[in-house]
Amino acid sequence: MNEKIWLSSPHMGGTEQKYIQEAFETNWVAPLGPNVNGFESDLENYLSNQVHVAALSSGTAALHLGLILLGVQQGDEVLCQSMTFSATVNPILYLGATPIFIDSELDTWNMCPIALEAAIQDRIAKGKKPKAIIPVHLYGMPAKMDEIIAIANRYEIPVLEDSAEALGSAYKGQKCGTFGSLAALSFNGNKIITTSGGGALVTKSEVLKEKAIFFATQARDAAPHYQHSEIGYNYRLSNIAAGIGRGQMEVLEQHVDVRRKWNQRYQDFFATIPNVTVLKEPSNDFYSNHWLTAIVLASFEQREALRFEFESQNIETRPLWKPMHLQPVFEMYPFYGTSVAASLFENGLCLPSGSNLTENQWERIFLVLEVFF
Ligand SMILES: *Cc1c(COP(=O)(O)O)cnc(C)c1O
Repeated sequence: MNEKIWLSSPHMGGTEQKYIQEAFETNWVAPLGPNVNGFESDLENYLSNQVHVAALSSGTAALHLGLILLGVQQGDEVLCQSMTFSATVNPILYLGATPIFIDSELDTWNMCPIALEAAIQDRIAKGKKPKAIIPVHLYGMPAKMDEIIAIANRYEIPVLEDSAEALGSAYKGQKCGTFGSLAALSFNGNKIITTSGGGALVTKSEVLKEKAIFFATQARDAAPHYQHSEIGYNYRLSNIAAGIGRGQMEVLEQHVDVRRKWNQRYQDFFATIPNVTVLKEPSNDFYSNHWLTAIVLASFEQREALRFEFESQNIETRPLWKPMHLQPVFEMYPFYGTSVAASLFENGLCLPSGSNLTENQWERIFLVLEVFF
């Protein structure tokens, strides 16, 4: 059997172990220390010098704390892109709030601004103004942020940006993760950079960053003994994991360049194949890290046939995210839109996109594609 080709696997740059070694030598083996601070400032410098970053144990934790900082409570409503990973939605339920799902549009596959505004008007008419909007930059493709932010401002509803897949992406020259009042990043094993597991909350204020760290470290009041006036969480990133993150920040731009190059290879191949479209930047306003290259095939049957063909060659591919409003655990919540996300899910497939794919592996991938088409 040929060795397995993964959709996206961890890709170390080489200096990660140096930072881990330092952590061991200085005995900073804890959820705090110089690597945590260093990783945060690397991220701040990379994103923009106007943001503050709190390093956390996961992207899910970042979304959870983000909702808490926005004041989301039991019984509140939160508007959320339906086509996404379940981790976008789960924190809404952790807080006893209700997700209101929004369909995608066909240009970026992300939150449809028209459906978003219709949902806001309808929820207000029904007597409740939603507390937050969570757009997602799926597969690294920036959502239509101008439209979404304009609507958010018009109705004065804060945006919590799920930028878990989009570190390195930008919209109109501005980095994803810097648009919302708050944003979440993820450094899970298959993301564009990894800390083996980790995430971060991006804020525009030092005060909110300190507040996030306060909640992430069990909400301890300033007292010599352990005193608590609020519910806390154990969500801080470890100094070991942050060491991996510092090494990964040194190669982030390279990883983005490679994934963009792979995307171009797929675009070139599919340019001549009828009825198959590759998710691509709708205009020069959009700059995607192309975390994963995704295609939409002519039918569900063709999608499955191609997926099985890859599987028989030990190559991993994956259907697109199944929309949340179609998930057994979430299907009882309101949904606004039509069938855009549902039909993308029916016919869509993510292709191997790791920045560490070798030319040899590429030959195997393209052999499958050439024979199939
Ligand atoms: C990965 C991911 C998350 C969650 O991040 P974790 O670090 O795995 O908790 C949230 N949203 C999206 C869109 C993701 O892809």
